Amino acid sequence: MPSTPEQHLNFIANRSCAADGGETLPVIDPSDGEVFGSIARSRASDIDRAVRAARSAFDGDWGRVSAADRSRLLMRLAGLIDANREELAQLESRDTGKPITQGRADAAALSRYFEYYAGAADKLHGQTIPYQAGYTVFTVRQAHGVTGHIIPWNYPLQIFGRSVAAALATGNACVVKPAEDACLSVIRVARLAAEAGLPEGALNVVTGLGAEAGQALAEHPGVDHVSFTGSADTGRRVAQAAAQHHCPVTLELGGKSPQIVFEDADLQAALPVLVNAIIQNAGQTCSAGSRVLIQRGIHDSVMQSLAERFAALRAGPAQADLDLGPLVSRRQLQRVWDYLSDAHTSELTFAAQGSVVDSAPAGGFYQAPVLLERVPCGNRLFQEEIFGPVLVATPFEDEAEAIALANATRYGLVAGVWTRDGARQFRLAHAIRAGQVFINNYGAGGGVELPFGGVGASGHGREKGFEALYGFTSLKTVAIRHG
Ligand code: NAD
Repeated sequence: MPSTPEQHLNFIANRSCAADGGETLPVIDPSDGEVFGSIARSRASDIDRAVRAARSAFDGDWGRVSAADRSRLLMRLAGLIDANREELAQLESRDTGKPITQGRADAAALSRYFEYYAGAADKLHGQTIPYQAGYTVFTVRQAHGVTGHIIPWNYPLQIFGRSVAAALATGNACVVKPAEDACLSVIRVARLAAEAGLPEGALNVVTGLGAEAGQALAEHPGVDHVSFTGSADTGRRVAQAAAQHHCPVTLELGGKSPQIVFEDADLQAALPVLVNAIIQNAGQTCSAGSRVLIQRGIHDSVMQSLAERFAALRAGPAQADLDLGPLVSRRQLQRVWDYLSDAHTSELTFAAQGSVVDSAPAGGFYQAPVLLERVPCGNRLFQEEIFGPVLVATPFEDEAEAIALANATRYGLVAGVWTRDGARQFRLAHAIRAGQVFINNYGAGGGVELPFGGVGASGHGREKGFEALYGFTSLKTVAIRHG
């Protein structure tokens, strides 16, 4: 007998509850396309309930918790996440389709976010400012109040961690709207937070569709700050909705991040990183290294090495723990197919393609990794975020051309530079338009401590590191005239 799909409810004021209208959405396993659960399909009234719960927490119990006690609570939550790491990893892996090793890494990163921000909670302070005689002037950093968090499906645990841990550490009360395609782990963490002792309403999770629950959260006048992670187009809509009530917004959007390989690069070190930066999470990573720019003199040999590595890559079910899993949904798979069909139409060269293992269920959303050669700067595949395991390669002549190509898209999230020339390392670090530049490495292993965010269509504002604490607070200047 088939088992009844498990219901995953909203979590508001430390209680699980169905959506007001009782509607649900199916939860689909990307590895086989089968439904294995349901989530609440929430609408404006559910969001309103969560915002009101958050407001009373902020004005009440939660607002009175000292910074040191917030630190203790978050540290306790980090411990509970650690204790439940395997369960969270399994949930994340099944829900998103990512290989279980990646699910485990994401669960470990989540606990690290809470640990880091627990440690930071009581270390954020203002300054005194020398002013005229007879005055004492100082600044204080204060929580915004109720913060809204709209999260995508690619790294639910990690993105929840980086924005919610920082918001809670600074004393905000949070309403989280995770993505309809993957949100089970986030609901589970909210229950762990209640277990850790977070007061009612400090952390609320409401699931549903973007155009319904997400939009309602962005435009709710009771929300004092919105942190949005997702696509550039949705980011624009969220910013417009929030602007109606003058609500500040942090936008963490997409990318088309270049990796630049100069002739003097240490290729032994670079090659595995170039491959991993595009196949991690099947290319569904905002900071994926999705363009590789290769200096002319080593172009052919680097392409040959990349092609050999791509040909050996295998995609399969999350539990098989191969190089990559399926994409998250049929819609995402179709999106990648549309780009690949464009690549055929514009007669791009397919330099290599990996494979999907025979044991992969027919209903799963699999795409083998693809390496495309000599993709011109004007081509759509060079310019746009595909969000799948597709690496576009383009040759360049010299440093000036490398910089021009690196900066030639509307995005500016991350860049990688591979060169042994010290002076060039500094020149490129300055010249590349991006929120993070990595020299002779890429991504620095995720680095919870490293501020992250973009410029241009990659968004604005910074999360991660100590910098996030500034984003989740506003600065007040107090001037006392005492004579
Ligand atoms: P998306 O923009 O469609 O959805 C992101 C979230 O926004 C989801 O929770 C969705 O339900 C919600 N949403 C959708 N429409 C909305 C609306 N009108 N109002 C309010 N909320 C709405 O993006 P996606 O397809 O889920 O994620 C992929 C995109 O996210 C990619 O472009 C990727 O680069 C980006 N991303 C960026 C980062 C980063 O930190 N820069 C991290 C992960 C993903």
